[in-house]
Amino acid sequence: MAKKYYELTPDERLAFLNLNDSDRKELHENQSTNNAQIIENYISDFRVPMGVLKDIIVNGRHISVPMATEEPSVVAAANNGARLLNSGGGISVLLPERTAMIGQILFVGCQFHEINGYVTTHQEMFFKKARQAKPSIYKRGGGLISIKARRVSDHEISVDFEIDTKDAMGANIVNTILEAEMTLFADFESHILGAILTNYATSQCVTVTGYVPVELLGGLQVAEKIVALNQFSKHDPYRATTENKGLFNGISAVVLATGNDWRAVEAGGHAFASQNGTYQSLTTWHIQEDKLYGQLSLPISVGTVGGVISAMPQAKNALHMMNVVSADELRGIILAVGLAQNLAALKAIASGGIQRGHMRMQYRVLALQVGALPEELELLVSQLSKLKQVDANIASKLLMEMRK
Ligand code: NDP
Repeated sequence: MAKKYYELTPDERLAFLNLNDSDRKELHENQSTNNAQIIENYISDFRVPMGVLKDIIVNGRHISVPMATEEPSVVAAANNGARLLNSGGGISVLLPERTAMIGQILFVGCQFHEINGYVTTHQEMFFKKARQAKPSIYKRGGGLISIKARRVSDHEISVDFEIDTKDAMGANIVNTILEAEMTLFADFESHILGAILTNYATSQCVTVTGYVPVELLGGLQVAEKIVALNQFSKHDPYRATTENKGLFNGISAVVLATGNDWRAVEAGGHAFASQNGTYQSLTTWHIQEDKLYGQLSLPISVGTVGGVISAMPQAKNALHMMNVVSADELRGIILAVGLAQNLAALKAIASGGIQRGHMRMQYRVLALQVGALPEELELLVSQLSKLKQVDANIASKLLMEMRK
């Protein structure tokens, strides 16, 4: 019997795709047996550049942070923002007493008081079941912290399980415990919609703060503009979306480099940005005396173990580079990068230079696109930088002239 597509080898799968010989060869050359085990229908690796934020001070410790991103200028901006915040002594991290994931069992078409009564009177039974479902997380000092019924609407109820998953991101741990807990709701079975963790990880909300002496920003006028831009993003979702995107340029690059789930972090972040009913910037900046103070708060679900981290050597290298010992420490570092990234972007806009900085890196990409060799890049980029108007045609012509 013919094999199903998912049962084929990566090369056999490639043979079915609309590819010319050279594309197929390139995809083949980028295969790795390790990654072929991680996802389904694997055909090849997709490489993303990894750069480094060389020095950021987080809770007094100098750290080099790996960043995986395809966007030019992100790593340069992160280094820039970190240098400014380092001059104010670096970034301080405020963690909740105990970080935890939240899992939900979802009910529809029943009375809140019934579910709430059941949950309140059977607490011990739920705690016992969690321990039975995942004894290993208890041995590590984690496990169920609380269980509460929450009214979502007049006919929808969520039973929220707060679970300490220690140094794992915890999605699978939470789902395992929830499945076991669901069996205890047999009397309400017809009302159960399902059970799953939430990525709105409000019990993992971390805050980072830092400051920069105003003179290092180019003066009070720039600092005031940064504050005004930040205020604007508290009132205008259009501005806020871009400001938060810039912040996630840094956050997601570290989340990805460490083998963590950047969709989970971004989804939680955007939900948190809407907590007041309007989508707002996640950071807040203000001036006090001669300093610009910044703060960023964000729920952040990441791990230093579990998921694909152990299966991806690059992720383990990244964690070693930062010398992180716990998921909580990683949370602080990731948010610190986010604050630095945000500062760099706001400073660039406030001083009218965002396009200037961006374009030099974009010209490098354009130069590569039109076929410049590594030894031709610098000259072509510097010639492109002098022009008022640049496109692929112009870059290509300049390259031809350079080669004459
Ligand atoms: P795992 O299922 O790999 O669980 C983590 C495992 O790590 C634990 O079972 C534990 O094993 C082991 N471990 C070793 N040391 C520690 C420690 N110090 N603290 C805690 N655990 C430790 O991964 P997660 O539960 O973290 O799930 C993360 C994955 O789930 C990610 O890949 C994510 O993309 C994915 N996912 C995400 C969803 C979402 O965000 N909505 C939904 C579903 C999946 P032991 O049993 O020995 O204790």
